[in-house]
Amino acid sequence: MSAPGRSVAATVGALDVERLRRDFPALAQEVRGRRLVYLDNAATAHKPRAVLEAVQHHYACEYSNVHRGVHWLSERATEAYEGAREKVRAFLNAPDRREIVFVRGTTEAINLVAASWGGANLRPGDEVLVTEMEHHSNIVPWQLVCERTGAVLRVAPIDDDGNLLVEEFERLCGERTRIVAVTQLSNALGTINPVRRLVEIAHAHGALALVDGAQAAPHMPVDVQALGCDFYAFSGHKLYGPTGIGVLWARRELLEAMPPYQGGGEMIRQVTFEGSTWAPPPAKFEAGTPHIVGAIGLGAAIDYVRGVGLEAIARHERELLAYADEALAEVPGLRVIGRARERAGLVSFVFDDIHPHDVGTILDHEGVAVRAGHHCAMPVMQRYGVPATARASFALYNTREDIDALVAALHRVRSMFGR
Ligand code: PLP
Repeated sequence: MSAPGRSVAATVGALDVERLRRDFPALAQEVRGRRLVYLDNAATAHKPRAVLEAVQHHYACEYSNVHRGVHWLSERATEAYEGAREKVRAFLNAPDRREIVFVRGTTEAINLVAASWGGANLRPGDEVLVTEMEHHSNIVPWQLVCERTGAVLRVAPIDDDGNLLVEEFERLCGERTRIVAVTQLSNALGTINPVRRLVEIAHAHGALALVDGAQAAPHMPVDVQALGCDFYAFSGHKLYGPTGIGVLWARRELLEAMPPYQGGGEMIRQVTFEGSTWAPPPAKFEAGTPHIVGAIGLGAAIDYVRGVGLEAIARHERELLAYADEALAEVPGLRVIGRARERAGLVSFVFDDIHPHDVGTILDHEGVAVRAGHHCAMPVMQRYGVPATARASFALYNTREDIDALVAALHRVRSMFGR
């Protein structure tokens, strides 16, 4: 436990968290008369000044539509937008800028792959393999395309601690498997999956591999070439960037072969009433005016996290998680859901006799923001026989003192319920 009276933002690991916290204006506010303890980062993260200023600067000084204009402002906007694409490429260590498609977020990225690639390639009896710990956005798009094509969704199980049963995954990956779609980091359990291994298994069976990086991208360095996957999806808003912007990375030959997902301006080569032809990727998948400023804000967020260092962020959050595990173990009646061998970023928990929504509401009155619910992972809740969990999730700006505040508030929850 931290010593009483220590500074709010103690330096943990190699990060100067106190200094970093000052980059995030939202953290300086009080909530219900108390210091804000923001532990809902898996839902969305706050934005550093660098992102807010990039967005404001662009709207104020460089704003115009991209790609179409012949005037000075349009050239500036196009440069900034395409510059953001290059930043994403470097962030993912993707081989080619043209493999980066800007979308609304992870959800849209997966829907795009399911509808476009899945619609064109899945046949009756083909199989799509996911895991039991997926977010709804990596389940439902596959269910939709399975319904359309007659393909079948298969689900690899997890154990009681939240580890994926890799042997079962391998057993389920068979002749008919066309694609596996797996999360790199579970938003409900914190499990880190052995994605490289899962991709190898998929490829050994001639299947493609999609990785849902919504939770992983903010917490660990990502290298799509090292992972060996075929598709990678993440959201800007969880990576300290704006909402409404995210990324689909896909191998270029796949993007070239895939049919368009949406039709409209920008994605065409030629249009006649008899028929149309498509622009090369990524334009083929960016119909209409894109979220120009969102992409630029995401570029600024990437500059920011790369400046802090993903390795340092991962180390800091690992220490926070270890500290939280120890501190939560001292709260009577609290049960952690998800104790996988490899975890990061968050801890999910329940009191067996207090509903998580009550826990979340009381914590809020103590200034502590956590998420309570099924975390868009209902099958995980069913697996553990709970209606919901409370979830504390970390960001680079969280401190041990935040966790102390969480634990103190949890004791208050217990006392309010007469425990
Ligand atoms: N996948 C995972 C693992 C997530 O945690 C989330 C969001 O919480 C998503 C996908 C969907 O992300 P978005 O809502 O930004 O599209």
